[in-house]
Amino acid sequence: MNVSRPIRARIAPAALRHNYRVAKRAAPHASAWAVIKANAYGHGQWRAVEALRGEADGFALLEPEQAVALREAGVGGPILLLEGIFSARDARAVGEFGLTTVIHCREQLDLFLRALPAAARCGVYLKLNTGMNRLGMGSADLAAALAALAGRPGIEVTLMTHFAEADGPRGIDGQLARFAEMAGDWSGPVSFGNSAAILRHPAGHGDWVRPGIMLYGASPFADESATALGLRPTMTLESALIGVQELQPGDRVGYGGTFTAEKPMRIGIVACGYADGYPRHAPTGTPVAVAGRRTHTLGRVSMDMLACDISDIPAAGIGAPVTLWGDGPAGSVAADEVAAAAGTIAYELFCALAPRVPVAVDAE
Ligand SMILES: *Cc1c(COP(=O)(O)O)cnc(C)c1O
Repeated sequence: MNVSRPIRARIAPAALRHNYRVAKRAAPHASAWAVIKANAYGHGQWRAVEALRGEADGFALLEPEQAVALREAGVGGPILLLEGIFSARDARAVGEFGLTTVIHCREQLDLFLRALPAAARCGVYLKLNTGMNRLGMGSADLAAALAALAGRPGIEVTLMTHFAEADGPRGIDGQLARFAEMAGDWSGPVSFGNSAAILRHPAGHGDWVRPGIMLYGASPFADESATALGLRPTMTLESALIGVQELQPGDRVGYGGTFTAEKPMRIGIVACGYADGYPRHAPTGTPVAVAGRRTHTLGRVSMDMLACDISDIPAAGIGAPVTLWGDGPAGSVAADEVAAAAGTIAYELFCALAPRVPVAVDAE
């Protein structure tokens, strides 16, 4: 691909597949939804579907229209709507296309059962609120929902919950205990684990796990790297130097002059800014790789550019390759490292990849 501005994102389908297999190995007794919401965490929904077709046990996303589009594109396996239906039309689509939908409250169940044809065959994931206090039913609504669904043999019911702190010291025990209490003598299928629970809490898997971020090669943990978890980067954001400046002591860099050189320095200007999805809050010192060497950013990130220190990389001139995150010819920088420096998580970096960045898919 020949583009005039050197920035691009590269997506690695083989790495996506590898990471899916890591999830399956970590949860060997569970089936696994490949979570492709938010445009597959910025990777492109269809790119993720292509990479995982024939491999993933099912696909999970948010928009009913996208679920229908997957079916119409020939995806025959299970498809899960993670926030459920939003309208009677969605409910009919669940029946017509044999989708599986989350139902997280009484109102949504009423809407669903009123609109769904009596003979429809589909799946329902009843979502229990076990402590996250975002979506999910309490015990009374669950009992009413199970009673209402008992008269609909075409609907296969699964109980699910979502963990709030599977990546942290409190873990999942409290929520699992609450789930067991609420589910009572339920013996049907259950679905629990997000990436963090898949990797750290075998008790928090259930019959279906729901890996998201780990598929995209980032770690769900602040204290363990993706590499240590055996994950491979699936998105590389790369660009090149389009300018070089020689600084004298006292010279400042970028808007607000937040970085001041204390010694003579050479700095490189990278064609990548916050309008490309690079986090504006990444401070001086955020890692970046230039021409095969790791270095760091300097000063504020602007809309279209950022600066980095190339004092120790004399070979790097205009045109030198740059890796902002991922794994490229310029070197490797984990998206998690950039995210940590910027006070966020790789999820947000991936999702924020801007539409103006051209995307290339690695050949397999
Ligand atoms: C997004 C999402 C997941 C995936 O979470 P990760 O932390 O990305 O693995 C799993 N379950 C539900 C309900 C979600 O919304």
